[in-house]
Amino acid sequence: MFDYLIVGAGYAGSVLAERLARVAGKKVLVVDRRNHIAGNAYDHYNDAGVLVHRYGPHIFHTNSREIFDYLSQFTAWRAYEHRVLASVDGQLVPMPINLDTINQLYGLNLTSMQVEDFFASVAEKRESIRTSEDVVVSKVGRELYEKFFRGYTRKQWGLDPSELDALVTARVPTRTNRDNRYFTDSYQSMPRHGFTRMFENMLDHPNIKLMLNTDYRDIRECVPYRAMIYTGPIDEFFDHRFGKLPYRSLRFGHETHDVPVYQPAAVVNYPNDHAYTRITEFKYLTGQTHAKTSIVYEFPQAEGDPYYPIPQAENGALYGRYLALAEETPGVHFVGRLASYRYYNMDQVVGAALTLFKKIQKAAAAAAPVPSYAPGARNGTGAATPVLSGV
Ligand code: FAD
Ligand code: UDP
Repeated sequence: MFDYLIVGAGYAGSVLAERLARVAGKKVLVVDRRNHIAGNAYDHYNDAGVLVHRYGPHIFHTNSREIFDYLSQFTAWRAYEHRVLASVDGQLVPMPINLDTINQLYGLNLTSMQVEDFFASVAEKRESIRTSEDVVVSKVGRELYEKFFRGYTRKQWGLDPSELDALVTARVPTRTNRDNRYFTDSYQSMPRHGFTRMFENMLDHPNIKLMLNTDYRDIRECVPYRAMIYTGPIDEFFDHRFGKLPYRSLRFGHETHDVPVYQPAAVVNYPNDHAYTRITEFKYLTGQTHAKTSIVYEFPQAEGDPYYPIPQAENGALYGRYLALAEETPGVHFVGRLASYRYYNMDQVVGAALTLFKKIQKAAAAAAPVPSYAPGARNGTGAATPVLSGV
């Protein structure tokens, strides 16, 4: 008998498996329908021997000491600050937009204060910031919005920024200084031996059994378990009862080139040209030295594996109906990017999983029998004396 059946071996499932097994002493079965662990963060050495991310570039960054320390138990790190260029008007310029982006794009020599005035002069006033268009035009105006955001977003989501929640483009800041890092979090590092190795270490425990190539629906009737942790798409769990929640998918075009360096930055974004949004060159991310180099193109598409929940009010409302069902489903915990229908980064999923673990521990402690020596405990008859059990 397993204490937990865990559906999905990505961050959400693996963190819970690790905590439940190692800290709470529970027996868990982790199943994933893919043929590997690590979910979308999966990396592997390709035929040429280059370490690549199968599902597109994954860069770890967090402001949470707790999350960083937690993962540090399973990996050493390599310090890495991510930098991105955007191909605009025939030039490769820093993205997020910063002082150098503006100077390079317009052939100017502005100072930080002057660029601040420039943004103020082109910014469009907005009563409230509701959409992904509002976010950008209210900061940098329409021209820069059209050069950097409109085309990219339409490609990536199949929607105009005006149809998407503000949180999508709000992920990318605007700067008046020369900081050209994509993220400014306090912890920015890549697992020294890759994400998959980190997951292997998390799942390496005698209380954890792993079944790959297995959909939980094929085994749930024949494997006995007490409770379930579900990290797949929430609408799928309920057989799409209220209709399908929309997810955006991608096709990844992996290539290896017989040169040591392919492009001048880890990622080059193409907001206005081509069917793909960006090209990533993995060796920048991993620090690997190799005579060849591997890259990946991302082609957004509607059909395929569910990668991105689509942040729109109507989808949030539909998710709310599934959430209400989930809350009425005893014995199943829903956690992760697909089960919570949230545009979470990796660290946020780790945080959500650690929070759920604490909640489970608290509930178990509350439900545990009152020890016989505690005030108010029944005693006197052997049968009624509660026994302290390992929680
Ligand atoms: P997943 O990794 O999706 O894991 C869920 C697992 O459940 C999957 O392996 C799936 O096969 C399995 N599953 C689902 N249904 C079933 C079923 N019925 N039976 C068995 N198994 C099932 N985050 C960052 O912090 N930095 C980045 O740079 C970054 N880049 C990204 C780039 C791309 C292209 C994408 C798509 C995401 C990126 N992310 C990034 C987000 C990151 O991938 C997620 O936050 C994280 O991997 C989510 O973990 P999860 O466990 O919730 O879900
Ligand atoms: N975005 C854009 N142009 C860019 C980079 C990002 O319009 O050059 C928008 C786009 O809508 C994208 C969102 O900002 O989906 C968030 O970008 P991020 O790089 O965080 O996307 P992710 O890595 O999550 O795919």
